[in-house]
Amino acid sequence: MTRRTQSFLPYGRQQIDEDDIAAVVAALRSDWLTTGPRVGDFEQAFASAVGATHAVAVSSGTAGLHAAMHVLGVGPGDEVIVPAITFVATANAVRFCGATPVFADVQPDTLLIDPDSVAQRITARTKVIVAVDYAGQPCDYAELTLLARQHGLALVADACHSLGASYQGQPVGSLADLNVFSLHPVKHITTGEGGMVTTADPQLAAALRRFRNHGIDSDHRQRTQSGTWRYDMVELGYNYRITDFQCALGESQLRKLPEWIAGRRRLAADYDQRFAEIEGALPLARRDDRDHAYHLYVVRLAANRDGVFDSLRRAGIGANVHYMPVHLHSYYRGQLGTREGMCPVAESAFEHILTLPLFPAMTRPDVERVAATLALAISATRQGTERQVAP
Ligand SMILES: *Cc1c(COP(=O)(O)O)cnc(C)c1O
Repeated sequence: MTRRTQSFLPYGRQQIDEDDIAAVVAALRSDWLTTGPRVGDFEQAFASAVGATHAVAVSSGTAGLHAAMHVLGVGPGDEVIVPAITFVATANAVRFCGATPVFADVQPDTLLIDPDSVAQRITARTKVIVAVDYAGQPCDYAELTLLARQHGLALVADACHSLGASYQGQPVGSLADLNVFSLHPVKHITTGEGGMVTTADPQLAAALRRFRNHGIDSDHRQRTQSGTWRYDMVELGYNYRITDFQCALGESQLRKLPEWIAGRRRLAADYDQRFAEIEGALPLARRDDRDHAYHLYVVRLAANRDGVFDSLRRAGIGANVHYMPVHLHSYYRGQLGTREGMCPVAESAFEHILTLPLFPAMTRPDVERVAATLALAISATRQGTERQVAP
């Protein structure tokens, strides 16, 4: 037991149970390793879990974002508005299509994309708005949908943090024209690598399926079933397919999503309770009209963030930072000339945020250990003695 409490506590971790392993083994013993029946089965189960009509499984969340940009016709000369605080893949997908990401600032209390900042950045070249449900809390979809409609833009949800969340009673996955999920091990459910795109539009769904398969108008299994070898490549696509054994894992994991979300919410409530007493660590704000999926538990520190980070790491606690604003990365500075001052709210929040461990298999004593270590680290950095905190 002592080993357990002293072991390294990562900020996120997958959970693989015996039924998951059995599902993957069954797929490996079947006739189809890829493009088989388990892909469609997983897509249907996923679509119904998030209240969507169509779900298209792809090889990663990043592939899903790229596919979303492509099927919306994003290309050279177009602008796509993305929040400054997100994983780089959100903006990179725009670059894959030769278009320009335009960085909107975030709201100071939630770090969600700020609709006012989006409105200020809309130009004649804008084609898409991408909402990122940072940490697992849905964005302001009512305002963003209205903006998109008024200006004739598409709305994409980068929902890689928010599987299982909802906004005004509507599940994430049914809120935007295209909704993109990641199935990476650190996310709510996993297929190793993998992603999913959901939509209510059958034409967009068909275009997504074509794009993930080289731009070809049918897949291998459809041709086998209809007894033909003929196919037509109608546009340039990619191999963004996912395998059947990954989808077997995904379907098995998906069954446990409600239980895992409930577990994340319980742990988040435990953290909330502790941080109500700890000075210098303020959790991000939550809006009443939405249910949070808690991919991340983020606090804002009134202390030296990097000093606290180092103390936690030395105590075996895998704190992290999500994210450095994307426009401050060298690539974007070099390619687009972005710089400090463009998104002041995001830039100042970035200096103070810290992500704490949160995953369903964590225990209350784990939460207590993190909170107690954090409280010590904060008071030590405030006294300038952070080097002495480590055990
Ligand atoms: C994880 C993540 C992605 C990328 O997903 P992959 O499956 O790792 O390609 C994109 N956007 C956000 C916000 C993410 O957290």
